Parts: sequence; C-alpha cells; structure tokens
Amino acid sequence: MNDLKNKTAVVTGASRGIGRAIALKLAESGANLAICARSWQALSDVKLESEAFGIKCFAQVADVSSELAVADFLEKAKAEVGLADILINNAGIYVTEPIAEHPITSWQAVIDTNLTGPFLMSRALIPLMMKRNWGRIVNISSISGKVAEIYGSAYSASKFGLIGLTQALALETAKFGITVNAICPGWVATDMTFNQLNDAEYQSLTDINASDSVDVARLSVPQMRFIDPNEVADLVLFLCSEKAKGIHGQALNICGGLSLH
Ligand code: NAP
Repeated sequence: MNDLKNKTAVVTGASRGIGRAIALKLAESGANLAICARSWQALSDVKLESEAFGIKCFAQVADVSSELAVADFLEKAKAEVGLADILINNAGIYVTEPIAEHPITSWQAVIDTNLTGPFLMSRALIPLMMKRNWGRIVNISSISGKVAEIYGSAYSASKFGLIGLTQALALETAKFGITVNAICPGWVATDMTFNQLNDAEYQSLTDINASDSVDVARLSVPQMRFIDPNEVADLVLFLCSEKAKGIHGQALNICGGLSLH
C-alpha cells in the first residue's frame, strides 16, 4: 500500500462509480481529500466513508464545468485541507446523440464537463505543484478517447481532447517533479455504463434488444467482463506513487482487452 500521508488529493466526480472508488483508495492510503460532484447526498456519504480512514475530507457541491464553481471549491478546499499534491480529473458525462439531431446544448455540456473541467482544475493547481516540485495529475479519459464510439461524437471528442490536454500538460510540467497521465477504461460497472446500455435510444440506434444490451457489451470484451471501479482506482494509486515517477504523458488502457478489436 502506498503511503500518501500528508498529501492532499482533489478528486472530481467522487460521489459514485470510479470517482468514489478512487477517493476511498486515496483515503485508505492516508491522503487528505477535497471532493466534489453536482449533488450532495451521495457525496456526503463518501466524505463520511473516507473520514473513517482517519483523514480529513472537504466535500462541496461544485460543477467542474463552471469557472466560478471551480474557483470557489478550490479556495474553500485550500482553507480546509490545503492544496494540492494530487489532482484526479474524473467527473464526466456521456450522451448518445446521432449527429444530425445533436443539440448544441448536450454537445457543450459534454465538452465543458469532460474537457474544460480538467483544464480549469489543472490551470489552478499546476502552479501550486510547480512551487513544491511535486505533483500527480491523472485524467480519466476512455477507450473512446482512442477509438471513437458510434453516436457518441461529443464524448469521443472530449476524451480524445483530454488525452491531448494530458500530453500538452506533461510537456509543460516535466521539469517540476510532476507527472500527468490519462487512464483509458473500457466498460466499467458503474451507473454511466448501465444508463447507456439501458437507454432506449441507444438500444434502438445500435439495433440491440433491451434484454441483450448488457450482455452484448460484456461479451464484446475479450475478458468477457466489465472492469470493477476498484481496478481503475488501483491504477490511479500506482500512478500517484513514487514508483510511477517515470510514467509521464501516457494514456494507459484498462479495458479487459477491448482495445484489441
Ligand atoms: P458515473 O457513475 O456517472 O459518475 C460520474 C461522477 O461524476 C458522479 O460523481 C457525478 O456526480 C460526477 N459529475 C458528473 N458531472 C459533473 C460535473 N459537471 N461536475 C462535477 N461532478 C460531476 O460515471 P463513471 O462511470 O464513474 O465515470 C467516471 C469517469 O470515467 C468519467 O469521466 C467517464 O467518462 C470515465 N469513463 C467511464 C467508463 C465506464 O464504462 N463507466 C469508461 C471509460 C471512462 P453528480 O451527478 O452528482 O454530479
């Protein structure tokens, strides 16, 4: 187990799924946390669960796509737990939209959440990491950030963009003891996955029966299973460790072999 005692980690979208698993693993490793999501109830549960590991956790409702909300969250987090050695840009949304009917509102919401959010967080925290000559940034991209997903143009564009942002920031931070990497999960067993697979529009566009949708996705993975959120969290933890200091500017797949198709 890594020892992240005396480190502070910002985790966005920490109320459920992958972000929750990451927050709890970081807490178990001794890191103090600043966590956010757009709704409070599940986030406050994660705050309590993580504090059971004996760390300090600041939690606040904040939308990562809002410049003002990000600034307010980070200002209060700094006062409560100090900022910031580790940044995990995890918050993300997915929409199924065929291009001809794609409303600009859902396009913008996906880009603002999945790409502008990580930009805002990085812009605020990298100068602090540079001053300390240490930092770890992990951006949760996707296999869809390397191979596009049908009817997911905004999502794929945002996740390709996030890998581009990762590489650009890796070049800027390389001399400052900071590493910046992306993780590209395949299908992970979370609300996002099950909401997409159970969405009637997704099923009708992809011509998949409602009752088969989850199995079709699962069996498309060479390992014939969904990734557990804790597996992604374990990879995050490794990237935050000293052992991973040479891994920089990379986009690492964790997908059960899905990328091989
Ligand atoms: P999830 O279960 O839907 O959880 C998403 C988290 O992000 C929630 O805590 C949500 O809380 C928060 N969130 C969403 N929009 C936000 C915003 N604007 N500001 C702040 N928080 C926000 O999704 P997940 O599967 O854990 O996905 C986590 C990340 O992994 C995402 O970036 C996703 O694209 C990526 N990913 C997932 C999969 C997969 O198969 N599940 C695969 C590849 C990549 P609120 O709703 O309360 O805001």
